[in-house]
Amino acid sequence: MSPMITINRQAWDLMVAHAEATFPNECCGAMLGNIDGDVKSVTQAVAIENSYTGAQGARYELRPEDLLEADRKARAAGLDLIGIFHSHPDCDSYFSKTDLENSCPWYSFVVLSIKGGKFDHANSFLPNAEQTDAPKEELIWPKS
Ligand SMILES: [Zn+2]
Repeated sequence: MSPMITINRQAWDLMVAHAEATFPNECCGAMLGNIDGDVKSVTQAVAIENSYTGAQGARYELRPEDLLEADRKARAAGLDLIGIFHSHPDCDSYFSKTDLENSCPWYSFVVLSIKGGKFDHANSFLPNAEQTDAPKEELIWPKS
């Protein structure tokens, strides 16, 4: 079975709302849930402040302590921190060279494309251990 990530309604609504609210800047956050083999289920999303000090229209950064806090939140709820999401304002959902360099191979990376302030499409990427490539995995979100 190929890797797949599903996102529930509650988590998805928060991710999209956060990405649209921070437009035209990039947003970021954590995805919490469960992993069963190749299938990841996101049941909770946490918005995290973009800590990049330069222009945030094309870049995001997560503070390590914010990520640790999300990990604690996950464990307290009996969940795992399974991925990171961020947005690409007025840009398609792809995994950039910077995204790859700042990634880590044990998380899924969901990129939401926000065009004109509204959600357009999304993809999920799985960086390899060498951080030289990040193939897509199947992403399933609730369609409204
Ligand atoms: Zn990016």
